[in-house]
Amino acid sequence: MTAPTLFDYKEVVGPDIIEELTILASHVGNRSIKMVNSTAVGGGVAEMLHRIVPLLNDMGIQTKWDVIKGDDEFFEITKTFHNALQGKEEYFHEDVFKTYLAYNEKNNDEMDFDEDLIVIHDPQPAALIHWHQNRKNRWVWRCHIDMSQPNPQLWSFLKPYVEKYDAAIFSSALFSTELSIPQYRFYPAIDPLADKNRELDASYVDSVLAKYGIPRDKPIVTQISRYDPWKDPVGVVQAFKMARKYVDCRLLLVGDKAADDPEAEKILEKVKAEAGDDPDIHILLFSPSIATEINAFQRASDIVLQKSLREGFALTVSEALWKGRPVIGGAVGGIPAQIIDGYTGLLVHSVEGASLGIRALLTQPDFSKKLGENGHQRVKDEFLITKNLKRYLLLLLALDRPQEQTIFLN
Ligand code: UDP
Repeated sequence: MTAPTLFDYKEVVGPDIIEELTILASHVGNRSIKMVNSTAVGGGVAEMLHRIVPLLNDMGIQTKWDVIKGDDEFFEITKTFHNALQGKEEYFHEDVFKTYLAYNEKNNDEMDFDEDLIVIHDPQPAALIHWHQNRKNRWVWRCHIDMSQPNPQLWSFLKPYVEKYDAAIFSSALFSTELSIPQYRFYPAIDPLADKNRELDASYVDSVLAKYGIPRDKPIVTQISRYDPWKDPVGVVQAFKMARKYVDCRLLLVGDKAADDPEAEKILEKVKAEAGDDPDIHILLFSPSIATEINAFQRASDIVLQKSLREGFALTVSEALWKGRPVIGGAVGGIPAQIIDGYTGLLVHSVEGASLGIRALLTQPDFSKKLGENGHQRVKDEFLITKNLKRYLLLLLALDRPQEQTIFLN
């Protein structure tokens, strides 16, 4: 299937939004962007880049996407960074920072950075800026992770690199921190026309569930997430087991493995141990998963859980809300931006809370339906890819005029 063009979104978002984007693009003019991250598959960042890069190109912004290279040693380090920035206690030996910098330097030597705007995603490639201090173009650091309580030792190492950028972008105002550079908030976004989110035939949904041996005899409660401690898959199993004493249901855990995630297998073992031999718990690991199948799992679910303990945003929440599913989410990071408790879903703070949420939603179908409908509208208003296109266009305009608070387009 060919990538959608901007005009394909008209039916979903309406003509005014498309017109607004076209006008903004004409003001931006002939520009180029390079996106840099650390994995081409797995996780929300890769998911979004796959969709936004072709669309920016379609709008006349020449956009490239480069993935930095690393081996197990580097990705072990950057996974520890990721966890520590999300608040995990950790002590770093100086050698770790040296190794991290050596990998960044090696990548820098092998890449070029000629575009007008360089967008560096997350901490893995954050130090690349070090070798570009006398640059002519603009560099921004796009942080997707929950930085509400970063590990102080790591943050004091990374912060001087971040402050060399022209701006930093966070997924929530809650993650912004004292920095000497301008900060912007970009909510992440989903693509309604992607295989992950487009409408599916009911028969296809049935066939996917049958393929993986998941009976449709009782309600299905699902969490779709990398096997990562912050996604709390073990807590999901515990919540399910508590709820199932009162309401009959199945649990479906679906996860894939990002190329830069060495931790997944270990967490999966813990999840399996917690699940035991319960025939109503279905645990799937993909590497990578198929987008239409993930879409089918979401559509087949009576409840979607995202019981995260820390969370940059959770695209999975927007994906499920877009499909009108009632969602129970951990009240952390970017999830409360999507879930307004009791209106577009339920927010929870504990295993017990998640279990009560499952019981409440399965016993009150009208309430569940209403949450799903409201959630769909919220995603339409705030979390679709067209909104993100607008943010990138505005960013290009704002970076051109760093001193101006208001930009007049004429
Ligand atoms: N995902 C997937 N297959 C899986 C698990 C997750 O395709 O087995 C997708 C999920 O649908 C979402 C993205 O990976 O689009 C995860 O993004 P999110 O922001 O929820 O979490 P992250 O992994 O970036 O922390």
